[in-house]
Amino acid sequence: MKLIMLGAPGAGKGTQAAELKDKLSIPAISTGAIIRNAIKNGTQVGIEAKAYIDNGQLVPDDTMIRLLGERLSMPDCVNGFILDGFPRTIAQAVALDEMVVDLDYVISLEVDDDVIVERLSGRRECPKCASTYHVTNNPSAKGDKCEKCGEPLVTRADDTPETILKRLAVYHEQTEPLIDYYKKSGKLVSVEGTSDVHSTTVEMFRAIGLEIA
Ligand code: AMP
Repeated sequence: MKLIMLGAPGAGKGTQAAELKDKLSIPAISTGAIIRNAIKNGTQVGIEAKAYIDNGQLVPDDTMIRLLGERLSMPDCVNGFILDGFPRTIAQAVALDEMVVDLDYVISLEVDDDVIVERLSGRRECPKCASTYHVTNNPSAKGDKCEKCGEPLVTRADDTPETILKRLAVYHEQTEPLIDYYKKSGKLVSVEGTSDVHSTTVEMFRAIGLEIA
């Protein structure tokens, strides 16, 4: 399957992509994680992207399209993939249409802005394996450590109150138009993403014809 997760920052794209990855045994590709890794490793891309990400702005399309193209050409993508955080602009969606012709579904996770702000404020991430948690809604079984790899959890640098509001504004302006874009192509499925993680997974699996384990 070739899937796209669409939704505001904090809508649950990464969390639900992880569920799909386990179910389908295909990679979940987070372009945000690719950028954060590049920053951590001090690569040229990372150095150039840091100011954008810290400011809640999008990294320029040409950089993101190139990075995604490189990732999709890796052998683990041959049987499909789940995109989390790409495309984020119409230009990226057009470029993706040129790279990938047989998308199966675009899953739009719908969550109101007030819930988004609450979620991002309580989000914690594992800096090693990129698993995400929420201090109250989805806590790690190991407290302030990652339940998968034991690494101490951190708050993402762009999950500060000011940057959260900027990222939401950028989402509404530049990414939300993709809902209409994919509606027109007949690939869009909308999933209510406000309830708990498991209920959202159940609804999402049902929407794309997957059995719940
Ligand atoms: P995310 O982890 O998906 O919330 O992404 C974090 C940040 O990475 C975003 O706020 C952007 O600055 C950058 N980013 C991730 N994916 C993209 C993309 N497809 N296009 C532009 N910027 C992106």
